[in-house]
Amino acid sequence: MTIAIDGYSSSGKSTFAKAIAKKLNYLYIDSGAMYRALTLFCLRKGIIEEVKTNEGKIDQYLKNIKIDFIFNNRQNRYETYLNGENVEDEIRSIAVSEQVSFISTIKSAREKMVGIQRDLGQNKNIVMDGRDIGTVVFPEADIKIYLTADVDIRAQRRYKELLEKGLKVSFEEVKKNIVERDFIDENRKESPLRKADDAIVLDNSNMTPDEQLEWFINLYNSIKENDN
Ligand code: C5P
Repeated sequence: MTIAIDGYSSSGKSTFAKAIAKKLNYLYIDSGAMYRALTLFCLRKGIIEEVKTNEGKIDQYLKNIKIDFIFNNRQNRYETYLNGENVEDEIRSIAVSEQVSFISTIKSAREKMVGIQRDLGQNKNIVMDGRDIGTVVFPEADIKIYLTADVDIRAQRRYKELLEKGLKVSFEEVKKNIVERDFIDENRKESPLRKADDAIVLDNSNMTPDEQLEWFINLYNSIKENDN
């Protein structure tokens, strides 16, 4: 079964997707981590400004980029690797967050990422979260969920998460980044963020992670019952 979870920035997609994957013993893939790893690559190469004036510039680098997810037993989680290096923490930095939605507008970059995502997910029991999973990556997904929550609640959650990681950020900075990313993601030409026609909307503003999981399990069971 393929489960696609799309939605706004910091709407809790990865927490939700991880909980589902754990419960069902499915593979979890964080597609946003791939766009973040690609953005980190561009930042390190110092080519962001150049790519902003000439998108084609990124093409020569795309073939040299390898992104993997490797399980870390100690942390009990999959971690993102860029060309063999563990970049799981670095891809969550504000510097990456500020540029990732721009990099994600580039057609050739998206094609490369979607190719990797389909290879990872083909014929597997998988939960993948992102912006275009139900619309572009797996339009035939068995369950599609479109997650949303009030923007202040989303900003508060992300702010707390970054503080816990020891990063020095202000609430305003975090909220601004979320609003900007949502705007770019919804308005880009290539695979914009939008609800798939057959996706189910879940507003989790006032839900705990446990309540969300319970909501999902009820949905999953009713789909299974209808299939039988
Ligand atoms: O999910 P996360 O917030 O880590 O994603 C970072 C960014 O990557 C998003 O703001 C969006 O610009 C981009 N993205 C995307 N398509 C996906 C996943 C993420 O364009 N499937």
